[in-house]
Amino acid sequence: MTHPTTYPSPPVELPLTLDADPPPVADCDVCAALDRERSAARVKGDGSKVSDCNVEIGSHPHKGRRS
Ligand SMILES: [Zn+2]
Repeated sequence: MTHPTTYPSPPVELPLTLDADPPPVADCDVCAALDRERSAARVKGDGSKVSDCNVEIGSHPHKGRRS
């Protein structure tokens, strides 16, 4: 029995797509509000608003974030 040769797989870089929903940060009122706005925009079929919210959630700074 030989060890099967494994090839190192390149790191998977997820492309930034408009369909990717960044999760809102818990404990962040702004993110929670954006998340609700995003859901409402999606219901209305307002794709540009949805991606606006995604960008805002994705780039929202969280200085006081505890992790
Ligand atoms: Zn936030």
